[in-house]
Amino acid sequence: MRYRLHIPTTLDQALELKRSTGGTYLAAGTVILVNHSHAEDLISLEKIPGLKSIEDSGEAITIGALVTFDEIEKCRCIMDKLPSLHQAACLTAGPQIRHRATIGGNIGCFSPASDAVTALVALDAQVELYDGSYHRMPVEGLRELKDGSIITSVIVPTRFCFSAFEKVGKRNAMSVSVLNMALAGDGKLFRLAAGCTAPHVLFCSRTSALLSTDAVDMEKAKDALVSEIRPIDDRWGTVEYRKAVSRNLLEKLVSEAGL
Ligand SMILES: Cc1cc2nc3c(=O)[nH]c(=O)nc-3n(C[C@H](O)[C@H](O)[C@H](O)COP(=O)(O)OP(=O)(O)OC[C@H]3O[C@@H](n4cnc5c(N)ncnc54)[C@H](O)[C@@H]3O)c2cc1C
Repeated sequence: MRYRLHIPTTLDQALELKRSTGGTYLAAGTVILVNHSHAEDLISLEKIPGLKSIEDSGEAITIGALVTFDEIEKCRCIMDKLPSLHQAACLTAGPQIRHRATIGGNIGCFSPASDAVTALVALDAQVELYDGSYHRMPVEGLRELKDGSIITSVIVPTRFCFSAFEKVGKRNAMSVSVLNMALAGDGKLFRLAAGCTAPHVLFCSRTSALLSTDAVDMEKAKDALVSEIRPIDDRWGTVEYRKAVSRNLLEKLVSEAGL
């Protein structure tokens, strides 16, 4: 694989390079380089300041795009206030990948199997993008990066007193999810997200509404979930298997939430 590596030191330089070369942003490269991207120009984000911090404002935790899963795993405030994201980070790949792979790359690869994204969608997180000015939008609605936008951070509200993440893969480490699921709730309102069940990580709105009622009917909730997900057959699992797994993971998460 041959490519030109650009190493800008500001967001504006990175944007300019993206627009002039049509290149691809590079964080840790655990997706781009492994997938043998044909990009001729790679624009490293590594030397741009301000993308590697974790800040707790009380109401939200802001995680820079270049923060690694290893750093998330070791971060006390994420462990305490965002257990589902912490769990998703701990269950991503193996230690070597977690040491390099970034949360921005997990969002930027737009994989339906991105573990952190499932936790972030359930937690109602927002992504901050830079395209010459800063914009925010829900992680849930992000399907592409327009006009060379750079993900600068993800802002995760800490209002949910409960959150949990579950994943089923072929083995414990270095395993892409066959299905993953996250639930977050503030005692009244619950948000459920599932990965590997649609072309993108899915916010399960109908099931979330059923889980946000006073007396939760578990069978009804499981049926709603199976009717709103759209899994496919692939080399990791079949549609039927994924539907069965989704019912089981929902039951497990609901029991953890004490509903
Ligand atoms: C062996 C192995 C196991 C894995 N296991 C898992 C797993 O269990 N769960 C899981 O979710 N993933 C897994 N992955 C996938 C991958 O490691 C993660 O998705 C990781 O978070 C990608 O981050 P990165 O920094 O390496 O991204 P990169 O490869 O650098 O980039 C990925 C994409 O995002 C774009 N991008 C990156 N950062 C930005 C930014 N700040 N702004 C705009 N665009 C950006 C890039 O242009 C590229 O298109 C695995 C990968 C490998 C190789």
